[in-house]
Amino acid sequence: MKSEARVVVIGGGVVGASVLYHLTKAGWKDVLLIERGELTCGSTWHAAGGMHTINGDPNVAKLQQYTINLYQELERISGQSCGMHVTGGIMLAGTRERLDWLKMAKARGRYLGMELEVISVEEAAKLFPLMNQRHFVGALYDPIEGHVDPWGVTQAYAKAAQAAGAELVRHTRVLDLQARRDGSWDVITEGGNVHAEHVVNAAGLWAREVGRMVGLELPVLAMEHQYLITEDLPSLKGQKEQLHCIDFEGEIYTRQERGGMLLGTYERAGVPWSPVTTPWDFAQSLLPNDLERIAASLEVGFEHFPELGAVGIRKVVNGPFTFAPDGNPLVGPVRGLRNFWVACGVMAGFSQGGGVGLALSQWMVAGDPGADVWAMDVARYGDWATLAYTNAKVRENYSRRFRIRFPNEELPAARPLRTTPAYEPLKAAHAVFGDYCGLEHALWFAPTAAAAREDITFHRSNAHPHVAAECHAVREAVGLLEISNYGKFEVAGPGAAEWLSRIMANHLPPVGRIALTPMLNERGKLIGDFTICRLGADRLFLVCTWAAEIYYRRWFERHPPPDGVTIRPCAMEYVGLSLAGPRSRTVLQSLTRTDLSSGAFPFLSFRQMDLGMIRALVGRISFTGELGYEIWVTTDYQRALYELLSEAGRAHGLKLFGGRALNAMRIEKSFGSWAREYRPIYGPYEAGLGRFVDLNKGDFIGRAAALEEKESGGVVRLAAFSIDAGDADASGDEPIWHDGQVVGWVTSGAYGHRVQRSLALGYIPRALATATEGFEIEIVGERRKATRAAFASYDPDGARMRG
Ligand SMILES: Cc1cc2nc3c(=O)[nH]c(=O)nc-3n(C[C@H](O)[C@H](O)[C@H](O)COP(=O)(O)OP(=O)(O)OC[C@H]3O[C@@H](n4cnc5c(N)ncnc54)[C@H](O)[C@@H]3O)c2cc1C
Repeated sequence: MKSEARVVVIGGGVVGASVLYHLTKAGWKDVLLIERGELTCGSTWHAAGGMHTINGDPNVAKLQQYTINLYQELERISGQSCGMHVTGGIMLAGTRERLDWLKMAKARGRYLGMELEVISVEEAAKLFPLMNQRHFVGALYDPIEGHVDPWGVTQAYAKAAQAAGAELVRHTRVLDLQARRDGSWDVITEGGNVHAEHVVNAAGLWAREVGRMVGLELPVLAMEHQYLITEDLPSLKGQKEQLHCIDFEGEIYTRQERGGMLLGTYERAGVPWSPVTTPWDFAQSLLPNDLERIAASLEVGFEHFPELGAVGIRKVVNGPFTFAPDGNPLVGPVRGLRNFWVACGVMAGFSQGGGVGLALSQWMVAGDPGADVWAMDVARYGDWATLAYTNAKVRENYSRRFRIRFPNEELPAARPLRTTPAYEPLKAAHAVFGDYCGLEHALWFAPTAAAAREDITFHRSNAHPHVAAECHAVREAVGLLEISNYGKFEVAGPGAAEWLSRIMANHLPPVGRIALTPMLNERGKLIGDFTICRLGADRLFLVCTWAAEIYYRRWFERHPPPDGVTIRPCAMEYVGLSLAGPRSRTVLQSLTRTDLSSGAFPFLSFRQMDLGMIRALVGRISFTGELGYEIWVTTDYQRALYELLSEAGRAHGLKLFGGRALNAMRIEKSFGSWAREYRPIYGPYEAGLGRFVDLNKGDFIGRAAALEEKESGGVVRLAAFSIDAGDADASGDEPIWHDGQVVGWVTSGAYGHRVQRSLALGYIPRALATATEGFEIEIVGERRKATRAAFASYDPDGARMRG
């Protein structure tokens, strides 16, 4: 084994092998993969090898498409068969709701260029004669599903990488990792040490253990997973290979395996494997079968596919594979460590492995993953994703693998975990809570405790009239909202302002004022949107998206401030409440001696002030489009602040409102939100944020690309629509049609209660930027007429919030 390498990839499963291949493809040849056993000896070797394009996140779906289309190239380069069987697949719906879900999946697939087709039960039965029609109401057909040979695919990646110069060492365990001062690594192995500039943790079942070598507790957990292979089915003899089939109601997947059928299930009471430590002596091993555990699913399977029950079982496989809490991979550089990368938690290695390898290699070689990988970025999890949290969420995710996630559905596992002092009073006021980074936050308020639960649905839920009342109160009087679920940073020290000015695209506000600013990467794409509040010349308070806190910190580490400047994340140190509505000033003024008149404290002012006995940071800013204030206090004061504001507001008709109303109101104002309208695939001018980019202030990261985008006009445009909806509103990812063609996609949607219209925001081609007619938006399988709305449907000139 060589003693120096540019990159050491730890793990020779399908993911590590793909990373190795993609690194060579991206131009890095001095790369070494170290595997403790044989290639595939972790979870890869016993996989069923199934591949699918559908994923809840369209960007992950795109990478899945890439993976499946890669196999032919890989066979050609390596000369190794991947054992491809592209049979096509059908997904069977047993209920109307599932059929609606499939229609939505087809709709999403449209703008990703997928050829999905919703078909009748009769058509499905022609394609897949093993099914018993009476259990189903319809199906979705995907022509490019199938399966591969797990060993063949891994070998093909490895051979292709070796042909390009990569090296591969087997039967050598990595025992430890030691960081050098210059950011490089000593990789300590059973076969000697390797000094590497970069290390990639692709250790699959042992990713946690490799993470622990560098002090990380990665949120991954292995679950036991069983499938069986039947004896030969007489009806398959001499027939074309059967399609892949997913039976959602039966929670079963099945495909042909030689003359029989392979049938697997994600049981509801899944069992974690090695929940704390993965044994090192587990290699090329299986776990004891437990058919009893999947008996109920098998019973359904044999009813839905009777021929499978009529033959014997030839083989049962029970093997472990890993999941992150949300089921998507963990990929990317790890904050706090230099040159340490992960590619783990990949639960669908044969659909996702190629995309993961591609994104990671581009990230390492070019400094950017080249695609929007937020849904699988390791930075989406913070310290709150502990071992026990991960255990609860992974088990929940596993049990729901084939269940519908409704757009308004909140999942119950690992809750409540994080709460603020306002939680109990909000609960007493019948809040229905959602979970955000493990924190409970109010979504809406029910009239009674008994009514405080929401029906999960694709249509308008029982929350609709209550959210309407909350929006009405904010428009007519004053609303109170908890806003603790925002990210916050304090940036301070000599040179803090200069540093921030280089990081952010807008100029900084003067002392006592607020500025909104995008943060761009070198390619001029949006990687954040911040509210910068200036407390002093070199003292700044930043408010941003909490879920992206680690993502931002990683960026700040890459572009560090000068000595003496500190960046302190303080999301949970400053919790907050917001007042919004025409009477909010009156309520707040009754609590402070600071003059809040528009002249003295105009829109976008920020100041420390006392509210009653409470010292608070108060910003005059609005995400609702009404006159409003955001108030930040240290956690110990939040309860007192809540009571103070509630009491003062009583005479003015103050009403609590929640995240649902806020979302509807920000869409009425076309205010974008991170991970919806603002993502690293859009530029600021495309996203309608051009007015917050100051090209004249001097240099900043992304300036040259932003200038180019301004001059060229970019490719897409964020647009607002008003939809002739029925009883369902857009929620995100629906296709936008124009003159019979799919031209774009929805990023957010909601019913706008103040304007009394169903609304959506979404991206369309720049060429259609001025078109107003001919649009449709497909909601729950129906194309609905959509009219371009003024960019802000509500109070377009902003008089209400500025007044
Ligand atoms: C029963 C079953 C059925 C499945 N069916 C499918 C399917 O149909 N489709 C699909 O896409 N996926 C399926 N999967 C999941 C699939 O197996 C995984 O997504 C995939 O194998 C993950 O690959 P990996 O490379 O991340 O991990 P692994 O395969 O676990 O590879 C990690 C490798 O790292 C090595 N390693 C770890 N630590 C060290 C160290 N310290 N030093 C050196 N080497 C180390 C290990 O020996 C191992 O070879 C299935 C899994 C199971 C269990």
